[in-house]
Amino acid sequence: MARVYNFSAGPAVLPEEVLKEAAAEMLDYQGSGQSVMEMSHRSKVFDKIIKDAEQDLRDLLNIPDNYKVLFLQGGAHLQFAMIPMNLMKNKVADYIVTGQWAKRAFKEAQKFGDAKCIASSEDKTFSYIPDCSDLPIDENADYVYICENNTIYGTKFKTLPNTKGKDLVADVSSCFLSEPMDVSKYAVIYGGAQKNIGPAGVVIAIIREDLITEDVLPGTPTMLQYKTHADNDSLYNTPPCYGIYICGKVFKWLKKQGGLEVMKERNEKKAAILYDFLDQSKLFKGTVEKNSRSLMNVPFVTGDADLDAKFIKEATEAGFVNLKGHRSVGGMRASIYNAMPIEGVEKLVAFMKKFEEENA
Ligand SMILES: *Cc1c(COP(=O)(O)O)cnc(C)c1O
Repeated sequence: MARVYNFSAGPAVLPEEVLKEAAAEMLDYQGSGQSVMEMSHRSKVFDKIIKDAEQDLRDLLNIPDNYKVLFLQGGAHLQFAMIPMNLMKNKVADYIVTGQWAKRAFKEAQKFGDAKCIASSEDKTFSYIPDCSDLPIDENADYVYICENNTIYGTKFKTLPNTKGKDLVADVSSCFLSEPMDVSKYAVIYGGAQKNIGPAGVVIAIIREDLITEDVLPGTPTMLQYKTHADNDSLYNTPPCYGIYICGKVFKWLKKQGGLEVMKERNEKKAAILYDFLDQSKLFKGTVEKNSRSLMNVPFVTGDADLDAKFIKEATEAGFVNLKGHRSVGGMRASIYNAMPIEGVEKLVAFMKKFEEENA
């Protein structure tokens, strides 16, 4: 069996240790005689799985007690709607549009109220994070929204926007658990698991408790109210049990690695290997302004679409897969999430060097 180096933006690489453990437990989870896929979500065994997962996540992120952790479904996309439906009390919200996902969230919020775009980097194909130190934030804004790490364009907020006292909502899908974060600076943090945590099908939302109320937009379905899930510890209906179990294993793996400080160091080291190479390469070039660079998603180009295609083809044959850039930007993108080992990045750079020499 040969495992590839998988640079996919998502669904993405998972720690091999986690996959092996899951494989070993596939037919008989810890003496239960069943797979986690087969057991009742109301069973004692599953209750421990979901409670442990929540506690380990709380430990990793130091989540304060006045925040709820919810395991939800519907992808990040459903949060684009649930956020305005649950938080738009004044029907006003300010959006910072730094990429396609932020733009989708912004467009969705416009269906529910007065959502405004107060800053954007679309003028330069989202290749930077705009200055957010003094934005025209609406006095009545229910929240300010960001996509903290822009998966497609490879940018990341290095400092959070000055929200002038308004609640901050962040989509952290592609930087979740890549480094420590101060949860108390946010009102809502959410992300789809399939980027940096686990399998597709789980969305994790961390929400300040005072925001979880019955005061939601009229007509909000029961399933789309945060309160429904908060009141039932994410077990109102059948949750994505197997996905939550894998997320839980990844949380334990992260703790074993030494936690998020260690992951941050490791991720900085990994990203530097790639960025340092790009900065001196005569063939490959990064597409993002240096001070906005993501540690997780690294887009790059040769400047020649045919050569890009040749590179992707040869890289795939050599076992470096899913390096094609998002269809909206072209070129290449290496996603180097927590589970990508440092050797994967070192070997990719060695391969790029060789390709550069051969195609000089
Ligand atoms: C992938 C991604 C999304 C979309 O996720 P779905 O789970 O497919 O809805 C949204 N935001 C960010 C930052 C992403 O990386």
